Parts: sequence; structure tokens; C-alpha cells
Amino acid sequence: MAEMHSCAHCGVAITDESTMQQRNGQTFCCRNCAAAYERMNQEQGSRH
Ligand SMILES: [Zn+2]
Repeated sequence: MAEMHSCAHCGVAITDESTMQQRNGQTFCCRNCAAAYERMNQEQGSRH
């Protein structure tokens, strides 16, 4: 059983760990997704 990560933002399967990014325990396929997810979190944070 292979351990597979998927991007928390776009959901793509992450096969290349050299471009993988991690933020707050979440895994992302690239820096763009990590940055987009952080921005979304900040916008939603005010409603939480
Ligand atoms: Zn992604």
C-alpha cells in the first residue's frame, strides 16, 4: 500500500515530492496551491 498525498487545494495526486509544499499539516502539489489555500483560509477565518 503506497502512501499517497493529494493536494489540499486542487486535489491532484502528489507524485513529485520535490515540488510538494506543506502548510499547517496540509499537503499541496505546489507553492501556488499552498499560497492560494492560505489566502482562502485567511478570508474564511473572519467568519469562523
Ligand atoms: Zn494543487
